[in-house]
Amino acid sequence: MGDVAEPRRYVDSADGARIAVYEQGPADAPTVVLVHGWPDSHVLWDAVVPLLADRFHVVRYDNRGVGASSVPKPVAAYRLSRYADDFAAVVDAVAPGRPVHVLAHDWGSAAIWEYLARPQAADRVASFTSVSGPSADHLHAYVWGNLARPYRPRRFVRALAQLAAFSYMALLSIPGLSPVLVRAAVRRGLLRGLLLRDGIPPARIRHSPNLLTDAVNSAKVYRANFLPALVSGRRDHYIGVPVQLIVNTRDRHVRPHVYEDTHRWVSRLWRRDLHAGHWSPMSHPQLLARAVTQLVDHLGGAPEHRELRRARVGRPGGPFTDALVSITGAGSGIGRATALEFASQGAEVVVSDIDGAAAKQTADEIVARGGVAHAYTLDVSDADAVEEFAERVCAEHGVPDIVVNNAGIGQAGRFLDTPREDWDRVLEVNLGGVVNGCRAFARRLVERGTGGHIVNVASMASYAPLQSLNAYCTSKAAVYMFSDCLRAELDAAGIGLTTICPSTVNTNILRGTRFSAPEGRAGRVDGRRAQLEKLFALRRYGPDKAAKAIVSAVQANKPIRPVMPEAYFVYGVSRLLPQALRSTARGRVL
Ligand code: NAD
Repeated sequence: MGDVAEPRRYVDSADGARIAVYEQGPADAPTVVLVHGWPDSHVLWDAVVPLLADRFHVVRYDNRGVGASSVPKPVAAYRLSRYADDFAAVVDAVAPGRPVHVLAHDWGSAAIWEYLARPQAADRVASFTSVSGPSADHLHAYVWGNLARPYRPRRFVRALAQLAAFSYMALLSIPGLSPVLVRAAVRRGLLRGLLLRDGIPPARIRHSPNLLTDAVNSAKVYRANFLPALVSGRRDHYIGVPVQLIVNTRDRHVRPHVYEDTHRWVSRLWRRDLHAGHWSPMSHPQLLARAVTQLVDHLGGAPEHRELRRARVGRPGGPFTDALVSITGAGSGIGRATALEFASQGAEVVVSDIDGAAAKQTADEIVARGGVAHAYTLDVSDADAVEEFAERVCAEHGVPDIVVNNAGIGQAGRFLDTPREDWDRVLEVNLGGVVNGCRAFARRLVERGTGGHIVNVASMASYAPLQSLNAYCTSKAAVYMFSDCLRAELDAAGIGLTTICPSTVNTNILRGTRFSAPEGRAGRVDGRRAQLEKLFALRRYGPDKAAKAIVSAVQANKPIRPVMPEAYFVYGVSRLLPQALRSTARGRVL
């Protein structure tokens, strides 16, 4: 796509600059205009266009000074107002009399904010999705407003940090020095280095073959705008057009907190935080295309998509309102209670269980209480089935925000008393199920880019060895360690992971627990099971309490959450006096 060498047409801007415009998709569909920043050209959008062109008339253009557009000489020709003129000219040419939707990045986005200050903007722009390019006026107000109030130290420091992050702009504003710096940065691969450092695979880096010339020519945008924007800004730049912010949380140039006050200026605002660096059009084209599509559809009259509702700034509700939560083993006990708890807090829940009827019961109960739930039959030990399930859930409902790997089975018996199949089955379900769930969903969460949370239900048995629970303790200890490793890996993607370690929760777990008795003691199994059930009941700790612990641990992003005081106590002992637990490991169940 980047090799589309010939522009489809040229448009003349107000000052006579010729702008090269490229169009794809059905001409009678709603128009989406893509606007790039520095040092990019229209090829920045190569990965986004195919995701939009089926549904939309997609228009992109080379900014002045770039690609096939003309290269005005004076610095003043690179003021934001000139870029806004270019946008106006393009829109008049490609969608005469029709409002367009806009997706813009970096300086391209700053230019659209500039355009939105014009009185006619509300008639020409139906929506604006802004990526890493705040309004110069809002930024001015944010920086100076906070620097003037040192008694609010957090905001003061953040404003200072943003100024520091813009220091390169000051260098690029120095006449004579700017071209030298830009040439050196491109020739020495510094720019490419920045993209690679942001985790963008080389194959996804899209630059025009004339990057060096484009970058040098259009770097005048810094000289034309940086200092003027620093010293003055409009105080009445209010926006009536619906705006969606894509906030790249790892952007080193535009820090996420500059958008803290945007809601004061924009009456209809959505915000999605994306764990990406500055060039998310290259790293996360799917997210950008989906965000635009959902907003356009909604403004066109469709109900607001759950993800869009979740992104709406100022929406009522709590942290889990409109979140999508997937829970395995949700037909009973802790899983079922967790599904009900998340649903009561406004989440849409995907309920799965090996017992499909039980999953349906849980889902029906959620629906009867006014919630939204979907039931699936799933054996978590079947890796292929879990992968298919994840594919289906993501296609039908979206990528879950929270994945709870809860399904598990009990098993009691010493190692030498336990048949191999039984021992293996516990590992397949308790460890394999968690691993399968993480493998299927973690990658999708990372690729989506907007963070999320995984909950792996282990047990107090993870850190309390017992000879009579050999397979169970082993499976749960493995879940614990697996989760510790995975948490570290997922952290960079903004995905949290909590390991839940309950003690004795009164559920159906004992009913399905296999007891492997030593020779000659098989007759004691039923009695012992009944005894343990009584003990669990007497402890009077219901799954609803465990569910509340899980939900609050997700909210607080806790790495480990023992559930019940004894689980905390044993956790402490396991860290301080592990030998004490090794000594008590000899306790027998049968
Ligand atoms: P439960 O028996 O009430 O519920 C477990 C659910 O998992 C059941 O609905 C069952 O059908 C389902 N399940 C079993 N095997 C499955 C499979 N292969 N695929 C999909 N679903 C499957 O038990 P619970 O107490 O709610 O247990 C939930 C989790 O909590 C388990 O991982 C368990 O090990 C853990 N846990 C429970 C306790 C406790 O005291 N109850 C303590 C520590 C940890």
